[in-house]
Parts: sequence; structure tokens; C-alpha cells
Amino acid sequence: MTDIRLGNGYDVHRFGPGDGCWLCGVKVPHDRALQGHSDADVGMHALTDAIYGALAEGDIGRHFPPSDPQWKGAASHIFLRHAMELARSRGFALANCDVTLVCEYPKVGPHAGAMQAELARIMGVEAGRVSVKATTSERLGFTGREEGIAALATACLVGGTHPL
Ligand code: MG
Repeated sequence: MTDIRLGNGYDVHRFGPGDGCWLCGVKVPHDRALQGHSDADVGMHALTDAIYGALAEGDIGRHFPPSDPQWKGAASHIFLRHAMELARSRGFALANCDVTLVCEYPKVGPHAGAMQAELARIMGVEAGRVSVKATTSERLGFTGREEGIAALATACLVGGTHPL
């Protein structure tokens, strides 16, 4: 019997000085950047955690400890590729994933197609299995005050063998 595994991911990064934000593998021009130990790609981190979650394999921090200096400034596609390789090694394929970015600015819409294509390329899946969308929080809370960006992601893995 086919096994179906769902996972969710959530991440936040704060704004700091800079000239753009890495979001789902695309550098989006902005008057600030996201701060973090790696490239602070909040969307890719949430998606990576969703895949680890579906596998019951913890989160990025378990596999790439922030205390380890070799991951300082790391490109987040390393994390996403690792999660997908782990899924495939267990016999799973990605059925679909859905990422939501929460911010007032930068505007995500014009870049959503490029983000979808880049995530699909990194994961080695068809673009039609990858969704990237965005919302504001109606100027409420830390995202509304433009202090940072939040991201949520869901991933569905299929394959393996369910014991039932
Ligand atoms: Mg993060």
C-alpha cells in the first residue's frame, strides 16, 4: 500500500541592511536584505523543513547545525537538495508542495513564476508540482511592520510502503 506523508514548515527571518532578499532561490531586489546564518532564504527553509517533517526527520537545524561554521552563509539549495535526497533514499517522491510568503514588501507576484521554476529545478520535479504564493498580513504584526518575512510550507510525499 502506498504511503502518503505530509509535512509542514514555518520560518521567519528579520530584515537588515542590503540590496535584496533571497526568496525561494531568487534574489528579489529590495532596499533591505534578510539576515541569518545562511543566505536566509525563508521560503526555501520552510519548504525544506516541510520535507524533513514529512519524513519525521526533524528540521534543518538537526541536519545542518547553525553552530557549525561551515554552514555560515550557505546557499539554501544545499539544504533543500539534502531533504529531497533523503526522501528519495526512503523511496518517496514529491507529490506536491505549496509555499506561502508573508510580507508587505518586496512584492512577490512578479517573481513567483521564477521561484516556482527554481524550486522545481533544485528538487528535480515538474514545476506543476510546486506552488509559490504570497500574502500580506494587512500591516499587522512583525510582517506588517516590515520587520521581517515569514514563510509557511506544506509538502506531500508519496511512495514507500505502508505497513497496513
Ligand atoms: Mg531559516
